[in-house]
Amino acid sequence: MRLNFFAVAVLLVLPISTLAAPAKSSLGPLITRCTTKGTFAMTFDDGPFDPTNIDLSPNPTQYTVKLVQMLNKYNVTATFFVNGDNYVNILDKKYRAAVKFAYDSGHQIASHTWDHKDLAKLSTKAVKEEMTKLEPAFKTIIGKVPRYMRPPYGSINDEANAVITSLGYRIIIWTFDSEDCDHPTDVKKDMANYQANLKGLKAASTHGFIALEHDVYKDTALVFAEQAVKYVQSLGYKMVSVAECLGDKGHEYRA
Ligand SMILES: [Zn+2]
Repeated sequence: MRLNFFAVAVLLVLPISTLAAPAKSSLGPLITRCTTKGTFAMTFDDGPFDPTNIDLSPNPTQYTVKLVQMLNKYNVTATFFVNGDNYVNILDKKYRAAVKFAYDSGHQIASHTWDHKDLAKLSTKAVKEEMTKLEPAFKTIIGKVPRYMRPPYGSINDEANAVITSLGYRIIIWTFDSEDCDHPTDVKKDMANYQANLKGLKAASTHGFIALEHDVYKDTALVFAEQAVKYVQSLGYKMVSVAECLGDKGHEYRA
């Protein structure tokens, strides 16, 4: 009898606790791969960056700008998850120029939060600030606000997800990590990660990939990225933005 009573009590309580939990529909999916077969989205986080100076001339010294010029040469569209104030302040005139240059070249600009905090450790109010503080900067630089974001460290919980989703963002993680932040000067190791993840996978035979790298490292921006592009293209993948690889081209931004 006692057991039955307990079972009934649990059944009575269950709907109440279900109602109290955050509604599943308020959480956005954590996107880790391209839905369009044969596509490959290179993504570059934490930038823009330049340890010396910004130079938009034909022979620039700037990491992000040089990287963009290389991508353009290979007809690759990439996605840049930029911070407001991480390595540099995005509102600094010279860094604004770098982001604008990437945008004007057709690359997708997305949010990586204002200053790269772990969103899973913040209050919901602070998570909202991490997103909304960057929005006016995007408005100033490219005239619109991204609809795509990546949480720093790929770290997010349901509370942060609900806030970010309610602000209209799609949340992008990655299929695999080049791990360039673990070995920023070892291009061979970066390439080994690419090869380990793509070995034997011709574009026609699999889903698409979202790969993680960082344009704040000299070797990534000036050496590794080009090797990776050549390798991925040799397998037959079409290298496109995250939005395009998800069949969402044209919806990268809101006004
Ligand atoms: Zn990051």
